[in-house]
Amino acid sequence: MRLILVGPPGAGKGTQAVQLASHFSIPHISTGDIFRLNIKGETKLGLHAKSFMDAGNLVPDSVTNDMVADRLTHPDAKNGFLLDGYPRNIGQADFLKENLEKSGTPLDAVLEFKLENAEIIKRLAGRRACRGCGATSHVIFEAPKVAGVCDSCGGELYQRPDDAENVIANRLAVYSEQTEPIINYYKSEGLLKSISAVGEVSEIAARAIAALK
Ligand code: AMP
Repeated sequence: MRLILVGPPGAGKGTQAVQLASHFSIPHISTGDIFRLNIKGETKLGLHAKSFMDAGNLVPDSVTNDMVADRLTHPDAKNGFLLDGYPRNIGQADFLKENLEKSGTPLDAVLEFKLENAEIIKRLAGRRACRGCGATSHVIFEAPKVAGVCDSCGGELYQRPDDAENVIANRLAVYSEQTEPIINYYKSEGLLKSISAVGEVSEIAARAIAALK
C-alpha cells in the first residue's frame, strides 16, 4: 500500500498514521518528524528547516523533495509507505508523482481528514509533545496522568513552537493556500478518499480502514 494522508494541522494525521502504518505493515514517514529529529540533532538540515517551521511556513521544496526522495529509497519502503505531511503543495505532488512513475510504483490512495477550523484551533492550542519519544497529548482532551510528564516514556512535555497561537493562524493560512489545492489534484486522479476527523481515535481509525478497502 502506497498511501498519503492529507488534512489540516491538528486533524490527528500523526495519531492515525501510527495505526494505519501498523495495520498495513508499512513505514510511517512524517516529514515534520524528520525535520524535528534533525533540529534535535542540530544537523545542517535541521538548522535550515527550523526558522521556517517556527514561523509556521513550509520548508522550501528544494530541501523537502530531496529528503523524501532519499527516504523512499530505504529498504523498508520497498513494499509500500505511508506519507504523513507530504506533499504539502502542488510542486511537491508533481515531484512525487514523477518520482514514483520512474520506479513504476504509483500511489494507491490519498486519505483526506476533514475538520472545522474552530476545532483545529482548540486541538492545536492545547497540544503537547514529548521531548523524549515525540508522543502527543492534549492538556484537556488527552491529559497526561501527571501534568507536564509523558505517559508513554516519562519525558518532559512541551508546546511545539509552531503550536503557539500566533503561529497557528499562519499554519492554517498556509494549509488553505498551498496544501488544500492538492485535494482536487488527487481527486482528479481518482485517488482521493475523504473521512471526518471527528471522534475517538479508534473510531476514526476504523473509518480510515473502511475507506481504504
Ligand atoms: P507537521 O509535523 O506535519 O505539522 O509539520 C511541521 C512543520 O514542518 C510544518 O509546519 C512545516 O514547517 C514543516 N514541514 C513538514 N512537512 C513539510 C512539507 N511537506 N513541506 C514543507 N514543510 C514541511
